[in-house]
Amino acid sequence: MSLTINRKFNKIICFLLTFLFLFSTCFYGSVSVSAASIKTTKITSVTAKSKTSVSIKWKKVSGVKGYVIYQKKSGGSYKKIATISGSTKVSYTQKGLKSGTKYYYKIKAYKVVKGKKVYSSYSSAKSVTTLKSTSSTTKVWIPTKGGTKYHKTSTCSKMKNPVKVTVSKAKSKGFSACKKCY
Ligand SMILES: [Zn+2]
Repeated sequence: MSLTINRKFNKIICFLLTFLFLFSTCFYGSVSVSAASIKTTKITSVTAKSKTSVSIKWKKVSGVKGYVIYQKKSGGSYKKIATISGSTKVSYTQKGLKSGTKYYYKIKAYKVVKGKKVYSSYSSAKSVTTLKSTSSTTKVWIPTKGGTKYHKTSTCSKMKNPVKVTVSKAKSKGFSACKKCY
């Protein structure tokens, strides 16, 4: 009699352990599935806005908590530069960069699962070079009559009697860079 009870008891324990094992497998399985299911975004453009700033735009991924932007210089390794919260904000401007320098960007989307950030894989990288600063001794062309712009070539914008001066002199006379040649 007592033997039968023990056997029954063993069966129940065995069943419970199996159930617990399967349950935990399913549970952890579902966490890793949602991590893998985060879509990778795509960088649509990186543009040099000036000598020191770059604008980055990427594709929206629905259902994510936000994005993390990574940047590196040639030969360096990627570092996190910004975390954007919300799935709808899909652009970022980085300031304080060096002029005439090439930078690479990558982005990850993230979700928050059980209080922890879970990331998509990296987007493919895109690079951009910030604009070069013109040295104050660089020679430019300015018109002797009319006009408010200085130019790279004497033939640009039909200047009247163009003369060659340094950029700093042109600027001191109130001229600014021609958008066609600079
Ligand atoms: Zn010009």
